[in-house]
Amino acid sequence: MFSEEIDKLSWQETTDCIYSKSEADVRRALSKEHCTVDDFMALISPAAVPYIETMARLSRRYTEERFGRTMSLFIPLYLTNSCANSCVYCGFHISNPMPRTILTPEEMENEYRAIKRLGPFENLLLVTGENPAKAGVPYLAQALDMAKRYFANLKIEVMPLKSEEYAELTRHGLNGVICFQETYNRERYNVYHPRGMKSRFDWRVNAPDRMGQAGVHSIGMGVLIGLEEWRTDVTMMAHHLRYLQRHYWRTKYSVNFPRMRPAENGGFQPNVVMTDKELAQLTFAMRIFDHDVDISYSTRETPFIRDHMATLGVTTMSAGSKTEPGGYYTYPQALEQFAVSDERTAWEVVRRLKEIGIEPVWKDWDGSFDQGFQHLSNV
Ligand code: SF4
Repeated sequence: MFSEEIDKLSWQETTDCIYSKSEADVRRALSKEHCTVDDFMALISPAAVPYIETMARLSRRYTEERFGRTMSLFIPLYLTNSCANSCVYCGFHISNPMPRTILTPEEMENEYRAIKRLGPFENLLLVTGENPAKAGVPYLAQALDMAKRYFANLKIEVMPLKSEEYAELTRHGLNGVICFQETYNRERYNVYHPRGMKSRFDWRVNAPDRMGQAGVHSIGMGVLIGLEEWRTDVTMMAHHLRYLQRHYWRTKYSVNFPRMRPAENGGFQPNVVMTDKELAQLTFAMRIFDHDVDISYSTRETPFIRDHMATLGVTTMSAGSKTEPGGYYTYPQALEQFAVSDERTAWEVVRRLKEIGIEPVWKDWDGSFDQGFQHLSNV
């Protein structure tokens, strides 16, 4: 399990190592076809700033070689804002006296239909807070069963589950799971996650292991930028990615580095601010480090940075997102989890992507692929 691996990595030594990188280390990393985590540390370090244009060119080249000039589009649907956790940066935390909603089956159906009217979305991400009693595995199974009549590719971003629960949901059409670690800083993790199941660092950091064991096809990882030193956090995520690729090599991986936005929870202010230029540097570094990983940007980011990075490394984007439960049809005015920066409609995003020479992809997965893979693995 990765919890044992991360204990071998010192947060402080990793930070010191990143900040001690030289331009020679950066040039060495740029000359390699296959970078190590140590090379990645050089590429995200301050020493790499003078090389950012070289990094952008390399990132674009690797992205086009692997993905072509395409962008996979997805849309999130928040099923509930009910949550037993108390993440200090989130408007849905348990102590916030706000109305709570759990979509009924009828409301889900209305949301699925409303999303289909926004665009020909086939990639749907179902999101919940943590309420295992009322929005646990049976509820998710029902949501997936209904969603697969409308969408080809179903992912969830929910509380970490047991391996057998992930396996059960794959039988209901689940294709991918996203679970952000938020921060890999074990010492500081509980400052941000003081109560509830999410306060259990090991349970969360081992969730991708359990997904891999369950045979989930796609695993999404992420750190929330704004909590701890971002360079150290993303280095830990790079270690995690390599570890998972060694152990669950059939799985497809995606990474995300959302920058914290204000939430309506009394105003947690980010401890760390990442500039647009630093986000670009990190995106280029991740692409040079891993040519195949999906790099995803959500509507937390502005149209400006999303449009610019669409040709330089990003391969997946949400579009037309609402971050409140039932936000597409049932409760269009409810409290959102975080403020959206890109408020363009899906079609406006599509039009802009085409203008800059990127082909939007609505569907890049079909359930029948699963049977094909199963067949191949039986041969
Ligand atoms: S971040 Fe997720 S787990 Fe934490 S309070 Fe918000 S909804 Fe709940």
